[in-house]
Amino acid sequence: MSATDLTRLSAADLAGKIHSREISAVEVAQAHLDRIAAVDDTVHAFLHVAGEAALASAAMVDERLAAGTAPASPLAGVPLALKDVFTTVDMPTTAGSKILEGWRPPYDATVTARLRAAGITILGKTNMDEFAMGSSTEYSAYGPTRNPWDTNRVPGGSGGGSAAALAAFEAPLAIGTDTGGSIRQPAAFTGTVGVKPTYGGVSRYGLIACASSLDQGGPCARTVLDAALLHEVIGGWDDRDSTSIDKPVPSVVDAARIGAAGDLSGLRVGVVRELGGEGYQPGVRSSYEDALRQLEKLGAELVEVSCPHFEYGLAAYYLILPSEVSSNLARFDAMRYGLRVDVGASAEEVMAATREAGFGPEAKRRIILGTYALSSGYYDAYYGQAQKVRTLISRDFAAAFEQVDVLVSPTTPTTAFPIGDKVDDPLAMYLNDLATIPTNLAGTAALSVPSGLADGLPVGLQVMAPALGEAVMYRVGAAYEAARNAEDGGPVISRVPEVSA
Ligand code: GLN
Repeated sequence: MSATDLTRLSAADLAGKIHSREISAVEVAQAHLDRIAAVDDTVHAFLHVAGEAALASAAMVDERLAAGTAPASPLAGVPLALKDVFTTVDMPTTAGSKILEGWRPPYDATVTARLRAAGITILGKTNMDEFAMGSSTEYSAYGPTRNPWDTNRVPGGSGGGSAAALAAFEAPLAIGTDTGGSIRQPAAFTGTVGVKPTYGGVSRYGLIACASSLDQGGPCARTVLDAALLHEVIGGWDDRDSTSIDKPVPSVVDAARIGAAGDLSGLRVGVVRELGGEGYQPGVRSSYEDALRQLEKLGAELVEVSCPHFEYGLAAYYLILPSEVSSNLARFDAMRYGLRVDVGASAEEVMAATREAGFGPEAKRRIILGTYALSSGYYDAYYGQAQKVRTLISRDFAAAFEQVDVLVSPTTPTTAFPIGDKVDDPLAMYLNDLATIPTNLAGTAALSVPSGLADGLPVGLQVMAPALGEAVMYRVGAAYEAARNAEDGGPVISRVPEVSA
């Protein structure tokens, strides 16, 4: 099989061929490293490529299989791109920020450790908006990532690097984090699958904090089944994260397999009245209407549901998130990590000069916003009020899930926008997150699955589920994916144009 073919295969297919020893993990890793060498100057999905370590890890998988030992996990030997916000002892970790340039963490994140234990080949670290704040990857201190569908457009953010790596066939699997949509929105913009697990479902140990009450790591892939396989590797209780849920990971792989058989009869799918209407690009709306018809054809019963407080989600999020950011980013004090601008003066002056030089404009904007929202005299009016809205949104979800099994909406209001379009207009950038934020505020689960193209660019369908309701969410996602592929004669991603320099 040619190297190009290897980069086109799903993670499940690659694993099958590696485990049956039809192909080797080393040749799979090499094919992806070659692909990165060929296209990443243009795409810029990676901040760091760990070629040698990747090949060594793959070689260990091959040796083990040659010795007749069972693979360490169903994904052993499959390559993956890791968002540069998870710590890695053997690679730099920057969170897309200049303030962490060259920092080598002394320990692996739990997610990193679980990937290694599963025998997954970590190819390198992917580009992202600084400290995961942004919707385009343009706020990375290391330059933007380009969308493989149109290299003049953004891949979304903050996890644009992970999504672009999938769409450019540089990796079949990736890890992202979703605080307000950073897994799902890039998935929608690149024609890939992205899952935001239930809050507490994936350990945050070693995940550089953006907003701790919202942050959640999750799987990114080109198929729903691949995402499910990865979800089961990274998910589950971790005693190093106090917010980790001490319950078994829902069996999402089984659910995805059942879903792919394409029968949703007996399921009630809630159509959120407040999402997907006004303010959404016409092509996104028609793709969404199409998706609703397809869900009905699969046997699901559509029920219109109202979540009246979702419209305040964006405003509440942009108070809660900056508040937590202002506190979390206080640790970058020029003393402990990365950059230090030594102005040869007092500690306070060194700190100020380092933070001035080390943080980009969006990080500074949010630190200032958050500090303001938390300051005495304003706390109740801003932060306190936003927390009340958060409760109301959770109640909207709870009421909806009494009537339906899952909720659906478009993942984003628009398709991928041109690089430079919104970078100087924070509000326009924030509006990307309209449909994804409620899930983060409520701590529930959601995924984005490709729902065709609008004007030649990918669109995503969002499926939202209750906390720990991942199984039904994967089932619906996989059923819809199978129906869509059958109707289109293949997955959306098979129509991505070849990346040209
Ligand atoms: N775009 C959102 C923000 O800028 C989402 C960030 C995220 O999910 N990490 O805050």
